[in-house]
Amino acid sequence: MNKAAIIGSGIGGIAAAIRLAVKGYAVTVFETADTFGGKMQQFWLGGYRFDAGPSLFTLPHLVDELFSLAGKKPSEYFTYVRLDPITHYFWPDGSHLKAYADAAQFAKETELQLGVPQQAVQEVLAKSARLYQGTSDTFLHKSLHRLNTYLSADVLKALGCLSDLGLTTTMHAANEQLFSDHRFVQLLDRFATYNGSDPYQAPGTLNLIPHLEHNIGAFYPKGGIYAIAESLVRLAEELGVQFRYNEAVEQIITAGAKAIGIRTAKGTFAAEVVVSNMDVVPTYRKLLTGHKAPEKTLQQPRSSSALIYYWGIKKEFPELHLHNIFFSKNYKEEFKHIFQHKTISTDPTVYVNITSKLDAADAPPGGENWFVMVNVPHNQGQDWDKLISVTRETVVRKLSAMLHTDIAPFIEVEQVLDPLLIEQKTSSFAGALYGSSSNNRMAAFLRHPNFNSSIKGLYFCGGSVHPGGGIPLCLLSAKIVGDMVPAAK
Ligand code: FAD
Repeated sequence: MNKAAIIGSGIGGIAAAIRLAVKGYAVTVFETADTFGGKMQQFWLGGYRFDAGPSLFTLPHLVDELFSLAGKKPSEYFTYVRLDPITHYFWPDGSHLKAYADAAQFAKETELQLGVPQQAVQEVLAKSARLYQGTSDTFLHKSLHRLNTYLSADVLKALGCLSDLGLTTTMHAANEQLFSDHRFVQLLDRFATYNGSDPYQAPGTLNLIPHLEHNIGAFYPKGGIYAIAESLVRLAEELGVQFRYNEAVEQIITAGAKAIGIRTAKGTFAAEVVVSNMDVVPTYRKLLTGHKAPEKTLQQPRSSSALIYYWGIKKEFPELHLHNIFFSKNYKEEFKHIFQHKTISTDPTVYVNITSKLDAADAPPGGENWFVMVNVPHNQGQDWDKLISVTRETVVRKLSAMLHTDIAPFIEVEQVLDPLLIEQKTSSFAGALYGSSSNNRMAAFLRHPNFNSSIKGLYFCGGSVHPGGGIPLCLLSAKIVGDMVPAAK
């Protein structure tokens, strides 16, 4: 039976393991950490449960698909609810908006709260749908680095919406052209942060992202986001996948132009197929030292990172829901701070995720588990201790003002995650959340392919390679790898 070695058990690595096991490979996953999940972790702190990494979940069918592929019923492993409302937005001028799941209701509410004509809101969501439908088959579901992608009918579909693609304008410019209300433009621009980019630089093409959340929907897995990794590992183990924790891969072994296995501190492991779910930069720098690295690709600017304060709050805030956004006054300045000054603005947008709103067991009675996140630059040697303490004060002050309650006395327990820790825990280069950023129109083509053209049998999946970061795209990277790898002998 052919063997496959997977390096890393992030969501992309787990999904690739399932796909290769279904294809008939004997799959072994090697993981540095003592558990699976990579950035998708959970932990308990003083009676509060926290999802440590991702909090927003879209395109759940990509998870379901893995169970179906293995001939299992998805709902026996993994269930989720559709969110309604999706997000509560708060602006510094006191205005607020509930983003309802139903497009017409969302548009009506936007008109009521912000004065933006509902027809225009519906039109922008329809435009986002057209962009997604026209481009996703080419840009997300297939390798952009294989000729047959460009010979398929899907390319004609992408060309058909060329005028809508927004390649010659930025996301922000495209949104500002449609709306004069700066708050609604800010809401639309925010979707750039879903892959760690800057709406003032990223191409208008990224305006397809709202379609995922507003037309297809945002979801919450029963048991929290961590349930995605947990249920998929259960499936993988049922398919015979072996997980070897506390065993970092130190080298990808090659013979001639072919990957033939991996080496860890415990020995060598022969495999016909090697898939790296480790960030692509350290994969080349540490595991493929004797090989020529694709420098141009590896030097693409990294995405933003995050600073997270996990707070157990001994009070309930009925005005908050699962996803809450507290916007900054000056979004342009905020992104200038992140991507140009490489620091954190004194008025950052603050995201508060509270899973105890949907799962009461995640916090003690009368309390809430706040995951409080600020977008920050990836690590470039900043003084993170100082930034963490200064930003903490800013965030406490801002949330207290916008919620009309001094929140400081209610913070019962606290833990912090910063770019240094993200890199330390998952090997993500510079602590970037989503690999390289999408801040230029060629970014999609400059992301590393899902294979290595000079090392046969070596594949790549996860957020640092095509099609990019975030749970759905990591799952799609595993799908592309699964489609490329030949059936096992
Ligand atoms: P990773 O999670 O990066 O895991 C890689 C794994 O490889 C790790 O377990 C690591 O230990 C292991 N590894 C590395 N080197 C080796 C080695 N040499 N040998 C063996 N193992 C190794 N996405 C969303 O969709 N929605 C969100 O709301 C969202 N929010 C986020 C918030 C935060 C704070 C973070 C950190 C991320 C967020 N993301 C979000 C992004 C999402 O979490 C990631 O894109 C995704 O989880 C990355 O998965 P991956 O497959 O690339 O692997």
